[in-house]
Amino acid sequence: MSRFLTVIPVKEAVAIAEKLAVRPQKIERVPAEQSAGRVLAQDVTADRDIPGFNRSVVDGYAVRAGDTAGAGESIPALLRSAGRIAMGNDKKDLHVGTGECVYIPTGGVLPDGADAVVMLEYSEEAGDTVLVKRPVSHGENVLQRNEDFTSGEVVFRRGRRLSPQDAGVLAACGCAAVAVAGKPIVGIISTGNELVPANVVPEPGQVRDANGPMLAAWLGGYGCVPRLYGIVKDERSAFEAVIERAVLECDVVILSGGSSKDDRDMTAAVIASKGEVLVHGIAIAPGKPTIIGRIDNKPVFGLPGHPASAYVVLIAIVRPLLDALLGQEVPLLRTVNATLSENVPSQRGREEYVRVMVKDGIATPLFGKSGLLNTLVKSDGLIRIPAGYEGLEKGCGVEVILW
Ligand code: AMP
Ligand code: MG
Repeated sequence: MSRFLTVIPVKEAVAIAEKLAVRPQKIERVPAEQSAGRVLAQDVTADRDIPGFNRSVVDGYAVRAGDTAGAGESIPALLRSAGRIAMGNDKKDLHVGTGECVYIPTGGVLPDGADAVVMLEYSEEAGDTVLVKRPVSHGENVLQRNEDFTSGEVVFRRGRRLSPQDAGVLAACGCAAVAVAGKPIVGIISTGNELVPANVVPEPGQVRDANGPMLAAWLGGYGCVPRLYGIVKDERSAFEAVIERAVLECDVVILSGGSSKDDRDMTAAVIASKGEVLVHGIAIAPGKPTIIGRIDNKPVFGLPGHPASAYVVLIAIVRPLLDALLGQEVPLLRTVNATLSENVPSQRGREEYVRVMVKDGIATPLFGKSGLLNTLVKSDGLIRIPAGYEGLEKGCGVEVILW
């Protein structure tokens, strides 16, 4: 077997990974208050006009706009007070005739006859008469019935990642519970004889497993259920047993470490023996020795061991598959545009992800060996240098994918 990887472009690798998400989407119903961060599985429509009535947006007097024409501080319009609107109550008996007004609180139902509201601040009560000191135009300070949404209108499309404010709008639309994509269960296996858990003091030659908790934390935030399978030694039988269990229990399995072609690197061989290896080697830096495979029709990824590399591959290669599993239309990536502070060279032929700090619109690259953790701490995100480029020049505009 060749010691060299056959690398394929990022785009091809992503397409291969995405195709592994063909199984029917899991769907569940959640109450609106628990819907933030979930991906809608169905369109949501307004069950009625919202608002359901013409509504005042200020405290004041409901009037006929024409009656206030020319009103001013010195010559106010004099209107006869014809009653008061109470909140939550559509008082059908109240009518604003010519020369009349009705007191109305914010959110009150605009009475028949009125077409605008004068703010309290521009009025003065004098017995049964109200002095209006400013003119209002037709529709002023009034939210029209259905101005927000019309009955039957699609308010949210399926595939949307719901936000906390969406939960409020769902409730306003009569949607106490919604259908959302079930959370993909993602198994995480850290591999390597040198690894010890975080609560163990490493002996010389040992390192703590950073990838397990890191991958789990990211996946949890992305709307998946991470399931940690701990650390597996580079021993074939142990490796096989854990992978088998994880494939059985999870929708996706992510391994880290052992993804290269060293004699100790077992990930590819084990995936091949249980299923198939579809990709071994991607033209991405960091992260070239990445594996995409399939066991029992479930996607299995082998990420490189260096935490920074594993993280980049997670975001660049695994994430699109998760979007597909979630039915998410727009990836949950926050980006910001910035200007590059210095030249960043790149090797033509591979897509390069460079960690950057961003401050005041300036992106400063953090160069460092791929094994370093500190660049993960100092950086705010990544910039992507496409495969065809030999680098990016100082002063050019870049899009930063924020962590
Ligand atoms: P590998 O991909 O197995 O060749 O590992 C590459 C480097 O990443 C080695 O220095 C490993 O010790 C390190 N590494 C592998 N897995 C982890 C992990 N889970 N956490 C931290 N470092 C790791
Ligand atoms: Mg290893």
